[in-house]
Amino acid sequence: MMVKTILVAFFVSLTPMLFSFLVPGSKQKILKTIIVDAGHGIMENGQYNGAKGSYSYEDVIALAISKELVTQLHEALPDVKIVETRPTDYITPLHRRAEIANENHGDLFISIHCNAMPPIQHSERIGTKMVTSYVGKGKKKRKVTRRVPQYRYWTTPNPRKGTETYIWGAHKNEDKEVAVRENAPMLQEENYKENYGDIDPNSPEFIALALLKTKQFFKRSATLAGFVEDEFAKAGRTSIGQQQRQIGIWVLQATAMPSVLVETGFITNRRDRFYYKPRGRGLSEQ
Ligand SMILES: [Zn+2]
Repeated sequence: MMVKTILVAFFVSLTPMLFSFLVPGSKQKILKTIIVDAGHGIMENGQYNGAKGSYSYEDVIALAISKELVTQLHEALPDVKIVETRPTDYITPLHRRAEIANENHGDLFISIHCNAMPPIQHSERIGTKMVTSYVGKGKKKRKVTRRVPQYRYWTTPNPRKGTETYIWGAHKNEDKEVAVRENAPMLQEENYKENYGDIDPNSPEFIALALLKTKQFFKRSATLAGFVEDEFAKAGRTSIGQQQRQIGIWVLQATAMPSVLVETGFITNRRDRFYYKPRGRGLSEQ
């Protein structure tokens, strides 16, 4: 049976934070569609795709958190459309996740993951052992005894803990701009003609506009990532902070909207696992 787990602190804080994406005093709602992306999922060969913790899989936790997030978003923002890229236990290919987000003209993309670290390897010299061997042949054969150091090997759980929220790296905006240009989110705006006039998607003006939009998305992603981490900290979690990914996270690059990837904690850490609480009747930690 699938284990249902949630990260309580995350949801308590996420909903009020999302309200700040609605422009105060403005009639124009900039938040119409939110894409919730549960990381990983069961692959075709039946194996889990995400990180493995001591008791649970990232795939299972990410889906449970995403489901809870969707429920709370529906309650708090009934007018906002919520789209799930991975609504079941099974994996959605990465390119498809971005496609779903872009096809639905998402205004915000939130990807949910868990971190994991391998155990730390230790070794210690515990003394020496006398080892006897023979060298030479026939009459020259003699006995040699030498001391050989002895070691003990063991592992301890990795102490890394805390939450971190990733956004697409500012210096990589050109890559994101391609996604923005190809999906033209500015042309989805209700009053785009008022704002941008009759614009040809192949013109240099359009390319400049796409770059401008990309920069705006970067700022909004950074703002949202900051809010998420602030709220984690307020809830007593260790916040590693907001990070810009140096290497590709496809879903952050390929989504033509502000996007964040939340690493909700380390499933390899006891303290972080405490927050992945089992929920509901008859459910227990895996
Ligand atoms: Zn992950």
